[in-house]
Parts: sequence; structure tokens; C-alpha cells
Amino acid sequence: MIIPVRCYSCGKLIGNRWEKYLQMLQLKAEEQEKEDREHPENKSKPKPAAEKEVLDELGFNRYCCRRMMLTHVDLIEKVMNYNIYEKRGYQAMMEDDDRMED
Ligand SMILES: [Zn+2]
Repeated sequence: MIIPVRCYSCGKLIGNRWEKYLQMLQLKAEEQEKEDREHPENKSKPKPAAEKEVLDELGFNRYCCRRMMLTHVDLIEKVMNYNIYEKRGYQAMMEDDDRMED
């Protein structure tokens, strides 16, 4: 859904690094693409995964924190498509609040 604020196992703060993680992954992918274009002969050589390098750079050393970032599926944008208040408008939300208070 949305990245948890803290690691479930050790409690390390991770939520504040999600955006940075995505940005760095994107940057790595672009760098790799450029590298492959300039030196196609090196394309088949084994190299560490971009995720590994980014997690190391961000300081996620424990595997519990690494799995939080690696396995997270960011669904919040898709779920927001089903926000009934956005479709009905702000007025509907106010009416619902009034009904709950009664
Ligand atoms: Zn952890």
C-alpha cells in the first residue's frame, strides 16, 4: 500500500528513504543503459544488481530492512482511484460527516 514508516523487525526508520530509493534506482538504470550503449561488449558481464548498490549506499545493512524496501509494492496511487469522496466531491464528504454525528 504505502511504505511502512519503520522496519517491522528492527524498528529502523525506512519510510523517509523510499522516494530517494526509487530516484537512485532510476538513476542507476539510466547509467546502466548509457553504459550498455557505449560499451556493448561488456553487456553480458556479470555485475551486482542495482538494488544491492542502492541499498548499500542508503545504509540498509540488515536484511530485515532490505526486504522491506525490496518487497514493497506501492499501491497507494491505484487505491486512490477508488476514493469515493474525490468522485463525489467535497460536499459529499461533509454530508457523510453530518450523518455520522447524528
Ligand atoms: Zn530492519
